Amino acid sequence: MLSDRRTTAPAPPPAVVRTQLTLPLRFADGFATTARVFTFDGLVDGREHLALALGDRAEPALPVDRAGTPPLVRPHSECLTGDVFGSQRCDCGPQLREAVERIADSGGFLLYLRQEGRGIGLYAKLDAYALQDMGLDTYEANLALGHREDERSYVAAAQMLHALGVSEVALLSNNPDKARQLRRCGVSVATQVPTGVHLSAANGRYLAAKAQRGAHTFDIGLSSAG
Ligand SMILES: [Zn+2]
Repeated sequence: MLSDRRTTAPAPPPAVVRTQLTLPLRFADGFATTARVFTFDGLVDGREHLALALGDRAEPALPVDRAGTPPLVRPHSECLTGDVFGSQRCDCGPQLREAVERIADSGGFLLYLRQEGRGIGLYAKLDAYALQDMGLDTYEANLALGHREDERSYVAAAQMLHALGVSEVALLSNNPDKARQLRRCGVSVATQVPTGVHLSAANGRYLAAKAQRGAHTFDIGLSSAG
């Protein structure tokens, strides 16, 4: 309890819903659902983050926090190469696709956060890929470019949840830092729900680095060979 109190930062300033609208979604594999999309005023970093309410939260009214089951929430950091072009160098595209369907099934929110490349931006991410082709792992490459291993912040994600009236979530993520940061901003994380592992021929090293350096809670089976 004491350590929780010490790490509690002042609550982020309030953001408010700016626009909400219905957006029918259809993915390349044919999966379709309907999202209620929210934009915001007052997000701390001034970026154009989106919240997509899915499943029973996608009704065309401002969702209010309901007693009982907390909504399933995934903060997804934008990845142009993976989300849009299906790059095999990471698992972002399949993670996004999985998250949308799981949230549509159980009701909740996908927070689409405009912090490409762990917060370093698109060009720097591609620079880091070039360094990785010379042998560095995904974290070492960020450091070599003068960035921190992970520059992502979830303060805006917490502001969006507060603006949507959501104070408690079931967090769809393998990343303990997301839960830590949300809790620090006053969002209660009732449970952390692991996502699937999307291993491809090209992203094995990336996932291994995530597991070893980022303390992500998944097992990609690299230790089971023996
Ligand atoms: Zn990615």
